[in-house]
Amino acid sequence: MTKVVTVKTASKTELIDITQEVRKAVRSLNITDGICMLYVPHTTAAITINESADPSVKFDILMVLNQVVPWDANYRHLEGNSPAHVKATLIGPSELIPVEGGELRLGTWQGIFFCEFDGPRTRKVYIRSLE
Ligand code: ZN
Repeated sequence: MTKVVTVKTASKTELIDITQEVRKAVRSLNITDGICMLYVPHTTAAITINESADPSVKFDILMVLNQVVPWDANYRHLEGNSPAHVKATLIGPSELIPVEGGELRLGTWQGIFFCEFDGPRTRKVYIRSLE
């Protein structure tokens, strides 16, 4: 069974902490022990796991991505959002998280971030258990 979480983004590029929504979905899927798979079905968005305790970290990640992938370059893709496609591929569309006793086994400082690279849009994250 797949659970779908909707994420409404507000900016062109941003990282949004969706850890609580994923925890809620894992409980509703009744996963006790196994693996939670997160999958983003978009070409200009991604998902990653990193520090959520200090909110500065997500801004630093975005700053570096914006430096590594410039807005203006000799891109061929006519839609004009090639930087978003490149960033999505660098970060990737999926994550796997161990589940034990019905809870995500994230590290103390870890959070799950939805990465918007061509917003604002309404996005989806698929959550599925692998057992
Ligand atoms: Zn495009």
